[in-house]
Formats: sequence, structure tokens, C-alpha cells
Amino acid sequence: MPHIVNDNCRLCLFTDCVEHCPVHCFHADEERTYIDPEVCIDCSACVPACPVQAISEVVDFSEEEERWIELNRSFAQRLPVISDKRSPLPTAEAQREALGFA
Ligand code: SF4
Repeated sequence: MPHIVNDNCRLCLFTDCVEHCPVHCFHADEERTYIDPEVCIDCSACVPACPVQAISEVVDFSEEEERWIELNRSFAQRLPVISDKRSPLPTAEAQREALGFA
């Protein structure tokens, strides 16, 4: 089943996920990451790496999940690949705490 980066990925860019991806299908802008569903092999290696549980596997293709698949696809197509971990944003720890993962 497809994997998506969801709304928990916002203003943190911990980017631990990208180092676990064997096919380099993560893309990023200045605030978050996206998975290219055309490249992802659905191995789930990235899921436990995210400290804010922002990566999930689509299971029932609900309207909301379809929206996230398309959002990931759309942004991944126009943003550069990210394969190396970056320094988290200054807002990362506050975001982690706000989401209850501190
Ligand atoms: Fe990469 Fe596997 Fe995560 Fe897909 S599920 S983004 S292939 S690590």
C-alpha cells in the first residue's frame, strides 16, 4: 500500500526518514517532506524513523488518504530529492512537543 507523509511533518524537518529510504523517493521544501508514490517501493523502512510519526501507510484509500497521496505526488514532482539528513528547523522541538512526541 502507498506510503505518505502526513500533516505531522510541518515546521520540523527532522529528516531521519530520508536516510532509511533505499530508493531515494523523498523530496522536500523549506517546511516538510513528501514521498513520490511512483518511486516508493512500500518497504516501510522510513515509518519508525520519524520522531513525529508523520509517515503512514495508506490502508483504506479514504477520501482523506487519497488527498494526501495526490499532495505527496504533486509536490514530489516539482521539488528536489533529499537523501541526506538536514539539521532540523529551529521550530522542530516545539512542533514535536505540540504533537505529544517530546
Ligand atoms: Fe522509501 Fe520505503 Fe519509506 Fe517508500 S516506504 S518512502 S521506499 S523507505
